[in-house]
Amino acid sequence: MEIRHVALVLFGGSGERFGGNEPKQFVPLGDRPMIAVTLEGLSACPDIEEIYVVTKDGTVKKTLDLVSRYRIPKVKAIIPGGKTRERSVYEGILYLRDIALPGNALVLVHDGDRPLIDPRVVKANFDAAYKTGAAVTAIPSTDSVIESSFGDKADRYLPRKEIYLAQTPQTFQFSILSSSFEHAAKRNRIDDFTDDASLVKSRGHEIAIVPGSRENVKITTRFDLASYFEGRRNL
Ligand code: C5P
Repeated sequence: MEIRHVALVLFGGSGERFGGNEPKQFVPLGDRPMIAVTLEGLSACPDIEEIYVVTKDGTVKKTLDLVSRYRIPKVKAIIPGGKTRERSVYEGILYLRDIALPGNALVLVHDGDRPLIDPRVVKANFDAAYKTGAAVTAIPSTDSVIESSFGDKADRYLPRKEIYLAQTPQTFQFSILSSSFEHAAKRNRIDDFTDDASLVKSRGHEIAIVPGSRENVKITTRFDLASYFEGRRNL
């Protein structure tokens, strides 16, 4: 049987750190809004067959209008998100369960505010998740990392050679993703995690690392726009 390749894309944040009057996915990046750039990038990946968009509650209609205005293919549904990133992922999972997505499907979770999609990284994610059940895109840290409980003194330096920075996409076999979130939800622990791979890892699953790149910029503040345009030139 064919294994379905699905993308779950997150636009559920409020973009407070970015500022402005509207959620940042509607801010133009050149000639089109960020949401259109990200969704077009994902749609252009041959390995992605279906796209499910999680958007901030109250922006479903606007998102739908943009998807049809820019004629973005592969988008199957727009789902209202939750209060935190992981709750938004959980809303997406509940939707995928409602439509009876098979447990062996591969689900690629991507931050909508990372618009520079590299189709090779997407393919490597699906390949790794097919083999191990779970994969995270990551890059080696170029900074030293300090652990500090209260932020007043350095408790511990972590060995830089062993430090990687997690990005998205992160890709999972649906049964693993869904059961890990269900376990965390039942214990009210979803908000203990800031990404999906760490939540899945907490259930003891092995997580493969897929090499990412610095071009895979996350647009959090307006300062990140310059890196985005620089990254776009390099991709
Ligand atoms: O908050 P953070 O920068 O980690 O957000 C990463 C991604 O998660 C963004 O694409 C954002 O839109 C999404 N998010 C979400 N629902 C939230 C908060 C963040 O889908 N409640």
